[in-house]
Amino acid sequence: MRTPIIAGNWKMFKTIVEAKEFAQNAKAGNTSTGVQKVICAPFTALPALSAELAGTDIALGAQNMHFEEQGAFTGEISPSMLKEIGVSYVIIGHSERRQYFNETDETVNKKVVAALKADLVPIVCVGESLEQREAGETSDIVRTQTEAAFSGLTPAQVAGSIIAYEPIWAIGTGRSSTAEDANETIAIIRSVIAEKFGQETAQQVRIQYGGSVKPENIASYMAQPDIDGALVGGASLVADSYLQLVNGAS
Ligand code: PEP
Repeated sequence: MRTPIIAGNWKMFKTIVEAKEFAQNAKAGNTSTGVQKVICAPFTALPALSAELAGTDIALGAQNMHFEEQGAFTGEISPSMLKEIGVSYVIIGHSERRQYFNETDETVNKKVVAALKADLVPIVCVGESLEQREAGETSDIVRTQTEAAFSGLTPAQVAGSIIAYEPIWAIGTGRSSTAEDANETIAIIRSVIAEKFGQETAQQVRIQYGGSVKPENIASYMAQPDIDGALVGGASLVADSYLQLVNGAS
């Protein structure tokens, strides 16, 4: 049995004050068990959230990091800097970073390797654009991205990672994939993991769906056999809505 995981991706939203308010509301209403809860906040809000959420089962994630441990990389944050402030997850290769910040399959792989080395759980994003989907390239795209992201890793490292299948056309658009279509692509991703790392690893690795997930549609995704939770942007920004997503996954 794979424990479902609901990860909020706040993107470039929330000041420290706003993040603290979210944490206080989330703590007050956090009753469900059996679901792993993660909030991926902007770097500046992470220390305050770490203090506010100490002693709860809501874990902290970052939205990016550099793959080097230290050095002359102005503006970057290293894996150990994240560990130091209580972060345990890190989103890697989100389509917005691939699109706007030149993230490539190669840098995604380097970051996944560095995250695991630092004992951070990578949430590795893969997914096709609308053009690619319409050209029938979805399975090729997710195969290429998945193989590249986990290149050189051991089965145990892959099993301990999280994959988020996020079709780009569904992110922040209100146009979500059907649960059946999402499950079909996630099953392809799982089969790629099975081919490369063995069936046992494929059955262990958790694969989330992401793209316009809301409290109203979370149950339909969770009802699918291969979907192990969600990576959620917009609907994770309000504590009540985030907790409804968690309830919907439990
Ligand atoms: C995301 O940011 O990864 C995402 C899926 O966003 P949204 O839920 O807003 O579509």
